[in-house]
Amino acid sequence: MNGKHPFFRLSANLLFATLIAFLFACNGKDEAIESEPIVTDIPETYDIDDFTGEVTLRTDCEGTNIHWEYEGIAGPDHWDDICETWDCDGNRQSPVNIVPPLNRTLSKLLRFFWKNTSTNIVNNGHTIQYNIDQPADPNAGSFIWLNGQKYYLLQFHFHAASEHTVNGEHYPVEIHFVHRNPTTGQLAVVGVLVEEGDENPFFEHIGDQWPHDEGNYTNTSTYNPNVLMPAGYNNSSTAHFWWYDGSLTTPPCSEIVNWMVWSSTIEASHEQLEEMEAILHENYRPVLPLGARLVKAQ
Ligand SMILES: [Zn+2]
Repeated sequence: MNGKHPFFRLSANLLFATLIAFLFACNGKDEAIESEPIVTDIPETYDIDDFTGEVTLRTDCEGTNIHWEYEGIAGPDHWDDICETWDCDGNRQSPVNIVPPLNRTLSKLLRFFWKNTSTNIVNNGHTIQYNIDQPADPNAGSFIWLNGQKYYLLQFHFHAASEHTVNGEHYPVEIHFVHRNPTTGQLAVVGVLVEEGDENPFFEHIGDQWPHDEGNYTNTSTYNPNVLMPAGYNNSSTAHFWWYDGSLTTPPCSEIVNWMVWSSTIEASHEQLEEMEAILHENYRPVLPLGARLVKAQ
């Protein structure tokens, strides 16, 4: 985007045309000159110097909207160089590659109490996020019980391709349902992998509904987010997922997440996946080492 005032562009064009005309006049020619418009791209302002490739480690990370990206000098390999208090080089990071364990164990007592809700759709520059409208009494809203603790559903958002891989393979899209326990501050994130298949009614209007530009958009329709869960998700005998302890997959990469990635998938059509990918722009963090952790199956 050219940030210059049109007057300056005009002046520059005139100057350029005059200079060319003068040079041609000096050569004894008087042909009409068609000068190309001069376009000078002025980069947006970044925290990180794109020209020198230098990153200045910040110590004032609280309450500021610090610039990061999914590629380049502000990309995942450099997130930990951006802000001192971020945990992006920790040893319990997410996402990870999941190698499905052969045995299932019943370790997580998990029940969903999601309700019909209205949402606010946000394009925050990193993802499309549906913020759940929170009622005055949180118990009237959507939550899960996980091993005797209540986690409230705050939002869900999308990554393309998937962040978690299964046996090294990405899926086209991954949905993250983010819940928070207000007492402990811990998060419980339910991951659902989307694969190509039948058209998904939920994504019928995303081409129009998903904001292409950053900003807030109100979604007036009311629905239960469980339309995006695999069948049988709320029945302990049919709910199968992989779980492990990890982190946020975006800065500040805090290691506070109980991850539960569903082993059964949902479907969306080829066209719907393409629409999502066009807006999400490869917003996935590459997998990180499991280290001493284990992924368990339930
Ligand atoms: Zn996510």
